[in-house]
Amino acid sequence: MVLKFLGCGSAFNPVLGNTSAYFTRENSLFLIDAGESVFKNLFEKELLKEYEEIYILITHAHADHVGSLASIISYTYYVLEKKVVVIHPNDTLIGLLKKMGVGQETYVYEQKERLTVNGIVIDAVTVKHAADMECFGYIIQIQDDRIFYSGDSYELPRKVVEEFMDGRIQLIYQDTAEFETGRLSHCPLKTLEKEIPAEHRNRVYCMHFTNDFTEKISEKGFRYVEV
Ligand SMILES: [Zn+2]
Repeated sequence: MVLKFLGCGSAFNPVLGNTSAYFTRENSLFLIDAGESVFKNLFEKELLKEYEEIYILITHAHADHVGSLASIISYTYYVLEKKVVVIHPNDTLIGLLKKMGVGQETYVYEQKERLTVNGIVIDAVTVKHAADMECFGYIIQIQDDRIFYSGDSYELPRKVVEEFMDGRIQLIYQDTAEFETGRLSHCPLKTLEKEIPAEHRNRVYCMHFTNDFTEKISEKGFRYVEV
């Protein structure tokens, strides 16, 4: 299952749009993350109109991942008369949305580590990104097809690497930075090189770019997402 992307930039590269992916299944839209630029992208593509059921998986509460969630929910509820289903393993987003004037009567909140919807199994995986916030990636399974989407994460969870290496996970979408920094928050390319042997790298897509190092990514044998 290959994801489509609305944006592939980091918080500090708005030109590439906030990193956000989606896939569809029959009349359902599954969106991963809803940063500042995402509502505009969805609106222009008319995706909220087109699909009857809208599921939004949120990885963590940084603005480049939730910045337009409130507007998406309000627009979908008041204009399109549908309720978005927000998926996140803790209750952080309920409080955040409430402060932005978005009450729980306007959306459905699925606070679960594992959720099965329309035959799709969504498992939240704790990842390391920010010290002051719980952050998650997701393993998404459609039939035998399983992918891992890292959200923002400076390392690959052990379980994900193991399942990827033995073929239980076919594709990884990984937050990747060109260089290692003093305060780790995104996964340096060097870390990915250490974790993933060369023969498996064409199953790993890098995303969430602050700068363009796509040439380097390709040289190392990885792929990168494009909008
Ligand atoms: Zn973040």
